[in-house]
Amino acid sequence: MADVAIVGGGPAGLSAALFTAKNGLSTIVFDADGTWMHKAHLFNYLGIGSVDGSAFMATARQQVDDFGADRKQGEEVTGVETSNDGFSIATDDGEYEADYLILATGANRDLAEDLDCAFTDEGVVDVDVSMETSVEDAYATGAMGRTEEWQAVISAGDGAAAALDILSKEKGEHYHDFDVPADAEETFGAMVDDGE
Ligand SMILES: Cc1cc2nc3c(=O)[nH]c(=O)nc-3n(C[C@H](O)[C@H](O)[C@H](O)COP(=O)(O)OP(=O)(O)OC[C@H]3O[C@@H](n4cnc5c(N)ncnc54)[C@H](O)[C@@H]3O)c2cc1C
Repeated sequence: MADVAIVGGGPAGLSAALFTAKNGLSTIVFDADGTWMHKAHLFNYLGIGSVDGSAFMATARQQVDDFGADRKQGEEVTGVETSNDGFSIATDDGEYEADYLILATGANRDLAEDLDCAFTDEGVVDVDVSMETSVEDAYATGAMGRTEEWQAVISAGDGAAAALDILSKEKGEHYHDFDVPADAEETFGAMVDDGE
């Protein structure tokens, strides 16, 4: 039983995983590796001058692995449903349970349909500002909740919003994941990249 199950390991899913794993929630990520990022080269991701999409994904994967997320690369989710206390997630390799579910499957919205999430008139998953769907504790992030605003930085922001909402629910108060230079030194040691 995981605290958080994430389906999709593109910018949306891995951004969510980074926040939940970093803040102590057991996090499992399933990814079939069909991310559009493998076709992209980013010039428009704030703070990054220019990076190949697959190189961006390699860094993102390492980052979530380092914070302890259990990344099931290549494991496709075949079904999701609500169970007594949360969600059941089925793959060809097994069944998993989680308290929270974050869908981050790009423009493929099939799992949200399986879960009976409400959709908008435009045919995307209907979410609130924290990316929560009409099904409590189920979130839909990134391209699946957007008609055409398909940008990596938007997907990453959506994933972060979902994760912070879950962390706030778990902690019983609004939660911020703010780090300061001393935290960086403690986490990464003396050789901290200060961006200069
Ligand atoms: C040619 C091209 C160029 C682009 N250039 C840019 C650019 O310059 N700048 C920019 O910001 N954006 C660009 N994009 C868009 C960018 O790639 C997307 O906005 C971004 O990848 C969306 O992120 P996401 O996490 O929402 O979905 P995705 O990156 O699509 O990730 C979804 C992941 O979920 C997985 N998945 C789906 N279903 C399942 C399942 N059932 N089980 C397990 N895993 C599943 C998929 O395999 C995939 O890995 C470009 C896209 C294309 C196609």
